[in-house]
Amino acid sequence: MVDLTLTLLKNAGFMAFIALVYGYIQVKIEGVQRNIVLGLLMGSGAILSMLDPSELIPGVIVDSRSTIVTLSGFFGGPITAGITWAMTAAYRYHLGGVGMPAGQLAICGAVVLGLVGHYLVRRAGRSVRTSDVAMLAIASPFLTLSMLTLPRELAVVVIETTAAPLALVTLLGTAVLGLFILHEVRRVEAETEVRRLAFVDELSGLANRRAFYIHLNKTWARWERYRNPMSIILIDIDYFKSINDRFGHATGDEVIRLLARLMAEAARTADIPARIGGEEFVILLPNTSSRAALSAAERIRAMAEQQVIEIEGDVIHFTISLGVSADIESHKSVQDCLSSADQALYEAKRSGRNRAILATPKVTTVEPAMTVSGPVELIAKA
Ligand code: GH3
Ligand code: MG
Ligand code: MG
Repeated sequence: MVDLTLTLLKNAGFMAFIALVYGYIQVKIEGVQRNIVLGLLMGSGAILSMLDPSELIPGVIVDSRSTIVTLSGFFGGPITAGITWAMTAAYRYHLGGVGMPAGQLAICGAVVLGLVGHYLVRRAGRSVRTSDVAMLAIASPFLTLSMLTLPRELAVVVIETTAAPLALVTLLGTAVLGLFILHEVRRVEAETEVRRLAFVDELSGLANRRAFYIHLNKTWARWERYRNPMSIILIDIDYFKSINDRFGHATGDEVIRLLARLMAEAARTADIPARIGGEEFVILLPNTSSRAALSAAERIRAMAEQQVIEIEGDVIHFTISLGVSADIESHKSVQDCLSSADQALYEAKRSGRNRAILATPKVTTVEPAMTVSGPVELIAKA
């Protein structure tokens, strides 16, 4: 009895470990690479369980391979299942013996079972439920039918002595590991959703104010340490109140979403476009001089100017004003950096709107080299 309890605990611990690593991979790796690494994890898990099988009751030796292979396809899909299958089948081939064909058949059966479950859930267009795992667990004992392919006399003996406990263990193992993994998958999904809600602006899909300030402080710290330049572009939609008044709030929202798309399109990978207020946006540009930021600002201004929104017969144009922070060397703090962009934005509004203006600490005249196509001006920092 003690042995049995220890065996069950050992297997449960092993499964919990696999589920934890599964969750970790889900957070850290994306796309096809995730499926590949999950396949390697599940394949290694299956091989480890074959290296150290458990004697559940005298004469009945079991391991978790069928369970692991089934769940690899069920949660990970074909790529994960393929890798798990290849690793598990290769190791079973290496073990050889009279039970080899039956073993291979069980492994193939587990792949098919997991993938069928995977596709049924996908076809239903929803995420995995506890009841799906239960169904999979109930179906899993059929894998033990592979014993029928053992040589006749052996099959009779093995089926008499081990079929029932093995079926039960497969069912329990699939249920336990399946629920562990499902728990991890849900935990990771919930965590991702919480992070999204905390850091992403609902309307525009851009980073929100909080996320922007986190990035800003990090980028400033990098500047203080490594002297990498950085720039800030502040953006405000011109006469946005009258867009709302004339065409309605929903149309105003549409303009916000469109501008957000333009900003995301114009931004480089390292840039952080964010919505920090009603119709106020910002782009943080790490490793970018203020001159390069000015050209980026001008590009976005021109893009916005060319947009045409047609809603229910109305044709809407909009423009934006942009303020670009002065060279970072002239700032004493991150706040200083922001307020220089803010002053430039104010100046852009004051001097007629639909323009990008670069704040500079000293320069008061427009230098030819600084002029880019479109209405761009330089101002003195107050
Ligand atoms: P200016 O050219 O000086 O910027 O003029 P403006 O009319 O754009 O003035 P302001 O920037 O002060 O206008 C902000 C307006 O934006 C007021 C508010 O009704 C509107 N607004 C704020 N948040 C939202 C939002 O989420 N959706 C919509 N549709 N409108 C918003
Ligand atoms: Mg505003
Ligand atoms: Mg405005």
